[in-house]
Amino acid sequence: MAETVLLTGVSGFIAKHVAVRLLNAGYDVRGTVRRLDRVDEVRAAVTPHLTPGAGSLTFVQADLESDAGWSEAVKGVAAVLHTASPFPIAQPKDPSVLIRPAVEGTERVLKAAVAAGVTRVVLTSSTVAVFDENKRDVLQDEANWCDVTLASTTAYAKSKTLAERAAWDIAKAMGLQLTTINPGLVLGPPLDGHYGSSLGLVERIMLGRDPAMPDLGFVAVDVRDVAEMHLRALLRPETAGKRYLAVAGSLSMIDMGQSLKAAYPTRRIPTRKAPMVLLRILSLFDAQIRAILPSIGHHVRVSNARAVKEMGMEFTAPKAALLASADWLARHGKVWK
Ligand code: NAP
Repeated sequence: MAETVLLTGVSGFIAKHVAVRLLNAGYDVRGTVRRLDRVDEVRAAVTPHLTPGAGSLTFVQADLESDAGWSEAVKGVAAVLHTASPFPIAQPKDPSVLIRPAVEGTERVLKAAVAAGVTRVVLTSSTVAVFDENKRDVLQDEANWCDVTLASTTAYAKSKTLAERAAWDIAKAMGLQLTTINPGLVLGPPLDGHYGSSLGLVERIMLGRDPAMPDLGFVAVDVRDVAEMHLRALLRPETAGKRYLAVAGSLSMIDMGQSLKAAYPTRRIPTRKAPMVLLRILSLFDAQIRAILPSIGHHVRVSNARAVKEMGMEFTAPKAALLASADWLARHGKVWK
């Protein structure tokens, strides 16, 4: 009989791809949704990508901010893949809006897993839980941790860092076999029109909303590679106890604008660098610009050596992932009619 795994936040951009990989690998997937009226939409997004022999997809209702539903959700599962976490495009005024569901939600899910006798957990963390701003010029890897005490650390970075730390604490105290996947900016094609914040950035550039681009650097990865890493983590017990950076390479906003302009030359897509003084003024009115201001001009570098060596990952290049997102957005009328 196929093993059942719990996938939290199955309605998410990344989780729908993870669901496809798990189902095609023969697992039965029980996905959590906050609202059961999302079930048909998720099933419609996932089903066209399933291959013969795929496992079955079922749903349970559970919210990270409530105990209700979690003990039923974890009952009888072989493993938990915890991807659900709030990921807004702009930082909220009150950081606890992100931190509370991320941290308390992770504690809820992992403690419910322990109580049900589940020992294997794969957690979707982030490179924001890794980048140590105190070591900006150093090539960073899984040994680094975000310093949540710095004023420049965003609410989202705090939410991911504190949630991942909570997961490691629980794993240590309660004997869980935990692997974390820490993706950079996740690009690539979505499975439907509910695609979260990272493609919102591509959408924004393609719509030409800004006359110029901030000098902002990212480490990026294709969503299909991130999903594959979740599956490989599950299939390889030796990954337990470790963090894995899911990054293919670097991509700046200027690179993004230039690549998109080259692919869609007749479109009004910004390619020039925005002057810092202009960004400071705009940040007074625009929460998204305000949130990125401390990172402008600092291009982080991280190593994907562990994922390549231990998981055998061959990453899609960041530019190809970007163009795959753009192609999907353009074909589905999300950026231009
Ligand atoms: P997404 O599409 O916004 O998915 C987030 C998922 O979390 C959704 O299923 C959402 O449910 C769920 N969720 C949020 N708050 C919840 C709550 N209070 N209770 C239950 N579920 C809740 O974002 P994504 O890009 O796929 O992100 C998935 C995971 O990857 C997150 O942990 C995120 O931090 C991490 N990550 C993403 C990126 C990236 O660039 N995309 C990079 C690094 C790490 P609803 O559909 O109901 O909102």
